[in-house]
Amino acid sequence: MTCDPGPRTPDPGPSNPWTPGNGLHYQLLAKSGKARRGRFWTQHGVVETPAFMPVGTQATVKCVLPQQVRDTGADVVLANTYHMGSPERVQLVERHGGLHAMMRWNHTILTDSGGFQVFSLPDRTITEEGVKFRFTQGDAPTVLTPEASMDLQRRLGADIVMAFDECVEPTAEAKYVSESLDRTHRWLKRCFTVKLQEHQHLFPIIQGGMFLELRSKAVKQCVELDAPGYAIGGVSVGEGHAAMKRVVEHTAPLLPEDKPRYLMGVGLPEDLVASVGAGMDIHDCVIPTRYAREGTVFTWDGKMRLQDKRFKKDRYAIDTKCACPACAGGFSRGYLRHLQFADEPLGQTLMTLHNLHFYQDLMRAMRQAIEQDRFDAWRKEFELRYFAGRQGGDESEAPEGRRGRPQRDY
Ligand SMILES: [Zn+2]
Repeated sequence: MTCDPGPRTPDPGPSNPWTPGNGLHYQLLAKSGKARRGRFWTQHGVVETPAFMPVGTQATVKCVLPQQVRDTGADVVLANTYHMGSPERVQLVERHGGLHAMMRWNHTILTDSGGFQVFSLPDRTITEEGVKFRFTQGDAPTVLTPEASMDLQRRLGADIVMAFDECVEPTAEAKYVSESLDRTHRWLKRCFTVKLQEHQHLFPIIQGGMFLELRSKAVKQCVELDAPGYAIGGVSVGEGHAAMKRVVEHTAPLLPEDKPRYLMGVGLPEDLVASVGAGMDIHDCVIPTRYAREGTVFTWDGKMRLQDKRFKKDRYAIDTKCACPACAGGFSRGYLRHLQFADEPLGQTLMTLHNLHFYQDLMRAMRQAIEQDRFDAWRKEFELRYFAGRQGGDESEAPEGRRGRPQRDY
């Protein structure tokens, strides 16, 4: 089995060619089918692609230290502008000289625009100007505009900042999606009028819902602006794996070859493999960290719910070949299950470390398979093994991402 790429190698350490005003220096190093192996640089170092960004919503990857995140092989993390964007929090970040210094993460950071969270709020109002909402009930209403989102992201200081856009529901009708897309494009042009810090790079977001012709139109409009990179948004919003694949497989090949491509909010290991296979480079998702806190861990043989009874007396590590502190440290599945039911934070830390290691190992395995021009063969082997254990009888799971802390069954 060649899923596991073997021992982790340190950064190749090429000298950083990044200089202000000269983009991200994306290099396409190899291709295998549509899958791309590349790298790009920010002021804060190299990002090897295909890449996975752990999510540090509130300026922390929950339960783990920044150095532990780095030790998994992550080159970049994501922080959420909505969660860090209240006046009090932005001032706190500024007092520390930016997110990098405050979070103690001296590598690349990406912030989203805040739009995704604001659009999910129940009582928001969309106008040409922006979106009116309240941070919490009882607060005065705030209007998040493209300019305000850029200003917040400028003050947070991430290396990559995302355009302010509307992420439409997957069930939205063509007429609404088309009008929304036009507005998102007008907002994008307004985003580009805001001066960012010199180390920051603005990525437009390709929207268009499930309508492929609108996706094509969005690519054409965004590419005309010659941005340092491009993102595909509006997927992983409940449309399902097949619809996500359809949109990404249509859209990715339309994007410029010489710029990094970011698929927002994706996903499960099989989604990442499909995305890389379609030619995407950068990914983020709360799944590895959120699932870990809920007791679900990922392995090359599929995912495991450690709260299941079958692990009660299990003295093996999650994956005996894994190099993470949980597995290499000898912490057993039975012990992790106990920590989960006892509500002990150590369990969440260990399972988060394992899942983050697994996700980075998965990306490294894909990078290696592309370098060896055997991505499709690797993908078949991965899927065969990953899904082989799926017929297990005790995986009575709630919908993805909605599992709560186990209350009984100890
Ligand atoms: Zn592990």
